[in-house]
Amino acid sequence: MDGREPTARLVPHPRRGTVDRERIEAAVLEILRAIGEDPEREGLRETPRRIAEMYAELFSGLHRDPAVHLEVGFEDEEHHEMVVLKDIPFYSSCEHHLLPFHGVAHVGYVPNGRIVGISKVARVVETLARRPQVQERLTSQIADLLMDRLHAKGAAVVIEAEHLCMTMRGVKKPGSVMVTSAMRGLFRDDARTRAEFLSLIRAR
Ligand code: ZN
Repeated sequence: MDGREPTARLVPHPRRGTVDRERIEAAVLEILRAIGEDPEREGLRETPRRIAEMYAELFSGLHRDPAVHLEVGFEDEEHHEMVVLKDIPFYSSCEHHLLPFHGVAHVGYVPNGRIVGISKVARVVETLARRPQVQERLTSQIADLLMDRLHAKGAAVVIEAEHLCMTMRGVKKPGSVMVTSAMRGLFRDDARTRAEFLSLIRAR
């Protein structure tokens, strides 16, 4: 394990095709009947269509390759200092319940001659978040992609998120935040680099 696993294994290639809205509509209609609702009543009549539209957006990341955002970088042989982007807001869906989990991602990397703009890193987070996800996997996929595509000397990702499947049902712990981290390369091997990143993302 050197943090340079082939991306293909970690970030599956985008699936062919798109989200099938008609199938979602039919399925939502069934769910409404199954919970004992009347899908014909006025407030619900458009719900299957609306949910199909919404899922097409929320799961659009399944059909997109996040790596394209990292192709638009610029060469900078001089810059080898840590780059940190903190508080990148994101919304994702937990794959166990298809309920939202949302929060912020903090992303750091130590460039190795290539740098990408702030917005590109945010797009990577967004693309990977718009899939059925678990927070741990989202965290490591972002770090692995930065290592693989930027050939970074190190990558660090910390995600803080609230999961609605934990706060609105089940154990019901409102306000509880789950924190996950993925450290690669220098951030894993060098305690000072890791400490610098952690103090930068904690600073308010
Ligand atoms: Zn869940």
